[in-house]
Amino acid sequence: MSRRRQIYEGKAKILYEGPEPGTIIQYFKDDATAFNAEKKGTINGKGVINNRISEHIFTLLGHIGIPSHFIRRLNMREQLVKQVEIVPIEVIVRNVAAGSLSKRLGIEEGTPLPHTLLEYCYKDDALGDPLVAEEHIACFGWATQEEMQDISAMAIRINDFMAGMFAGIGIKLVDFKLEFGRLFDGDFSRIILADEISPDGCRLWDIETNEKLDKDRFRRDLGGEAEAYQEVARRMGLFPEDGISEVLDLDSERKKRGK
Ligand code: UDP
Repeated sequence: MSRRRQIYEGKAKILYEGPEPGTIIQYFKDDATAFNAEKKGTINGKGVINNRISEHIFTLLGHIGIPSHFIRRLNMREQLVKQVEIVPIEVIVRNVAAGSLSKRLGIEEGTPLPHTLLEYCYKDDALGDPLVAEEHIACFGWATQEEMQDISAMAIRINDFMAGMFAGIGIKLVDFKLEFGRLFDGDFSRIILADEISPDGCRLWDIETNEKLDKDRFRRDLGGEAEAYQEVARRMGLFPEDGISEVLDLDSERKKRGK
């Protein structure tokens, strides 16, 4: 890994220069942060699981015509993606009230929303990713109106697909965060899905018990976060039956050997 040029280190991922121009390698770390990085920790094996979950979801979304930056998974912790210019907006898709929405508007967590709600936050750590309206996005030129139409249409399709997929494995998709990027072709660019989709950026509750199977276990000190991520991957059928611990053992072996 040290041979490659590091482009950026984020909270949960490191980006390296890819093997060909226009490509990037995303390395998934075990590091976890919450509350704008005020709380820091690690979730054992998270990087391996998120790499696999995100690969799976992006691949399926590709099959239903959602373009994304995903090219292929390279190994346990890395995937090759297309280089894009990230739109500085986090798109939050909500089906059930939770988190900041519940706090802001006093709506009890778990209340189903009458219809899917899209929210936008301006990506700026120093400002704490503030909630913004589409008018702010247009006013400050963060994305054009045309780009926002593509983004919102894709977000709704992604939600419909993911809500169904998770319901099929006994998981309620409460809310999640998406990021999009501009893929340039000469002077033109088009919007594609970027970043990752994993339990780091989704609220996933067991359909029967409402048990949390996502990063809220870490944010709220509930414990069992590594097991929750594994449970999601297991229900998605992403690792051979009972094989997750073997894969994670192999990963920690390799890490110890500094590979
Ligand atoms: N989210 C995220 N990154 C952020 C903010 C939110 O991935 O910087 C995800 C979060 O995991 C949840 C959804 O977006 O699934 C909605 O989060 P919310 O606005 O409720 O904020 P939170 O309560 O997580 O601070």
